[in-house]
Amino acid sequence: GGNGPVLSVENVDVRFGGIHALKGVSLSVNTGEICGLIGPNGAGKTTLFNSITRLSAVTAGSIRLCGRGIETVPARQIIRLGIARTFQNLGIYGGMTVLENVMLGAHHVTGGSFLGAILRPGLTRRRESEIEQNCRAILDELDLSGVAEEAAGSLPYATQKRMEIARALASRPTILLLDEPAGGLTHSEVAEFGELVSRVRDHHGVTIVLIEHHMGLVMRLCDRIEVFHLGRNLASGTPAEVRANPAVIDAYLGRT
Ligand code: ATP
Repeated sequence: GGNGPVLSVENVDVRFGGIHALKGVSLSVNTGEICGLIGPNGAGKTTLFNSITRLSAVTAGSIRLCGRGIETVPARQIIRLGIARTFQNLGIYGGMTVLENVMLGAHHVTGGSFLGAILRPGLTRRRESEIEQNCRAILDELDLSGVAEEAAGSLPYATQKRMEIARALASRPTILLLDEPAGGLTHSEVAEFGELVSRVRDHHGVTIVLIEHHMGLVMRLCDRIEVFHLGRNLASGTPAEVRANPAVIDAYLGRT
């Protein structure tokens, strides 16, 4: 660990049968950074998240969190190590309240888990009430206190997205992986969401990696951008550098 990168992916290969989805992909993210992953559909961005969170097995290369190799850690342990994630599709429990959904995060349940797998016996009431207090503080911070007792499924989409961030934060992550968080949001909601993400980084000191197709948001929000194309790293740099890179314009930006 020490002063090295929070997340370090080196020369990772992922194959699905005959499909070579990631070909020697690398990514290094420093503490407190907001790093954007962009690239055309099928470039391998989600597969990279899946390999970091152990949902896809890597066939070569290494993935380290704070210096520790995690390529063989079971997927269900990943959130305990400090990696929280949201998915392209919302993974909320619509019949539960907002507070309950966020408390699931504190119990290390994410949208991708089975609810039954997490009902952990043996938690004392005292510990539960501590968790509830922490979660209410997070709701407050994300302007969700007013809907804490509402059924999550009854809320507007943008509010549900905010709740997903709250749930991820409740697990006290070191790093937060967001898969197309602005998808489906209106123009003004995207702007608000961007402000929320930088607030979360500033207040929680959490490192953020986001896959995003909304270029305006990526360019405004990210400290650094990594561009992928056809399962490989194509370019990386500051938003200004990436925007001016001819290879990037050719492969991606020129087409949008
Ligand atoms: P998008 O922006 O559309 O989400 P992406 O950059 O995230 O695209 P991936 O979803 O990672 O791209 O897909 C990379 C490649 O791997 C694609 O060719 C895809 O079809 C393939 N792929 C991904 N997951 C699987 C899987 N479980 N089985 C087989 N092929 C897969």
